[in-house]
Amino acid sequence: MNVPPKGFLPELRTIADAHGALLLVDEVQTGMGRTGRWLGGDHEGVKADAIVLAKGLGGGFPIGAMLVREHLAGALTPGTHGATFGGNPLASRAARTVLEVLRDERLVEGAAEKGEHLSRGLARLVERHPKLLTGHRGVGLLQGAVLAPGIEGRVALGKLREHGVLLTVAGADVLRFSPPLVVTTAELDDGLARLDAALAEMSGAS
Ligand SMILES: *Cc1c(COP(=O)(O)O)cnc(C)c1O
Repeated sequence: MNVPPKGFLPELRTIADAHGALLLVDEVQTGMGRTGRWLGGDHEGVKADAIVLAKGLGGGFPIGAMLVREHLAGALTPGTHGATFGGNPLASRAARTVLEVLRDERLVEGAAEKGEHLSRGLARLVERHPKLLTGHRGVGLLQGAVLAPGIEGRVALGKLREHGVLLTVAGADVLRFSPPLVVTTAELDDGLARLDAALAEMSGAS
């Protein structure tokens, strides 16, 4: 949920080029539309030399992949990168289907729109509960709400669970939101309302 400041990724590209180094980007979490673009790097038009994908690539079915630019494609010749389950046909078919569904159902564009909705909702909660939340950050459907000093993530998660919302924390103090790309705005609103109720209870204001 730490979005690099504007210009950071392009600058990395420039530095890598100046030194003849490769730019390798881990898009396991940020790829496959999660941030509202197909790849996180797309927000700034940065082309990496190699990208790794997994998680959302299989839509729940286990698969990982490494994408490289044309001039590197010959670097790993057949037999040089073995894996017991590599090239699994079922996993590959699942990933192809995920790609089709993301495209046909415009889920990447949807992640951008619903991400803005979530972002506005979190901003309202920060405003309503300043003693519990100090801010929010992230992009698309990968966002976080920052807990105020002294508020334990573990305690907040427990309270949220009582209200029917399952979240995790990023680090010690950030509530992490990464709903599925098929989430609806109504479901987001329902989750935000439950979060609001849990926070109200925590601050004793209910
Ligand atoms: C989960 C994760 C990985 C590891 O992916 P595996 O497919 O489990 O090896 C790598 N990078 C990031 C950012 C991840 O979130």
